[in-house]
Amino acid sequence: MTELYPTYHKLNEFEKFQIIPSKYQHLMEKLPSKLLGYDTNTKVEKGKKQGYTTGVNYMSPYKTYPYGNVCAMADKFKCHGPCLNESGRGKFSVNQVARFRKLALFKDHPELFKEMLIKDIETGIRKAKRDNTKVAIRINGTSDIDIVRLYLDILKEYEDEVEFYDYTKIVKYLLNLQKLDNQISNYHLTFSYSKVKTAQEYIEQATKTKFNIAMVIKNENQVTRLMENEYKIKLYGREYNLINGDDDDLRFLDTNNSIVLLKYKETRASQEDIDNFVVDIDDLPRNVELT
Ligand code: SF4
Repeated sequence: MTELYPTYHKLNEFEKFQIIPSKYQHLMEKLPSKLLGYDTNTKVEKGKKQGYTTGVNYMSPYKTYPYGNVCAMADKFKCHGPCLNESGRGKFSVNQVARFRKLALFKDHPELFKEMLIKDIETGIRKAKRDNTKVAIRINGTSDIDIVRLYLDILKEYEDEVEFYDYTKIVKYLLNLQKLDNQISNYHLTFSYSKVKTAQEYIEQATKTKFNIAMVIKNENQVTRLMENEYKIKLYGREYNLINGDDDDLRFLDTNNSIVLLKYKETRASQEDIDNFVVDIDDLPRNVELT
């Protein structure tokens, strides 16, 4: 299996461009041990109370040389700054090498990636049986790849056993999923909002679909204020109910016609990136209205 492993061929590139610090480069010679981590952060753990074991795949997002872009709309939505919270230059961690290895596998050996994904889904199903829970899986933990195009067979195979869900910034994914409504019942998408001008035409298109929209709000106080005062948000003329998205990550349980509020979590993003992406309810963007 290791003979197949892509990064051998690129190791000299990593060295040449110092993509991965030399002390971590030997790790690129190994396959990832798994793709999905189950119940590995506080937010997905909250889903346990609602009877779900949640598996998430985190791989290096956006444009990671030499692997191209796994977040096609990140430039337009200016989300890569607030997203890449751990990847300041020279701040490479073992965790990030792990994410990088998954990306390398996905790009260079997609069949192997898929095999591993299926294996991990099976692991989750067995775990859930032991824990007497159901299974939820988010493949795009830190990426925005086309799940329906790549893994339609997996979605169908596990229709009765797994709820798949993701956040996306790609309207085409919403429209395709909408078209396949009667074929896929276990994949759920939430569209992600951004304040920046270049994202607005896509957000307006998303408001014309049935999908909910996630919005990152400046801080917890603002989220609480919105929830306690039972505000609604009007976006491009459409009025949405509000959900506190930090209560859990089980987006497929959200009621329709909702905006999912997520409090901004500290990152190393520049102030400009934060201003482009995060909503301050005391200084609302032009197309957002509280009602
Ligand atoms: S926020 Fe999403 S689309 Fe943007 S860079 Fe991160 S994973 Fe990619």
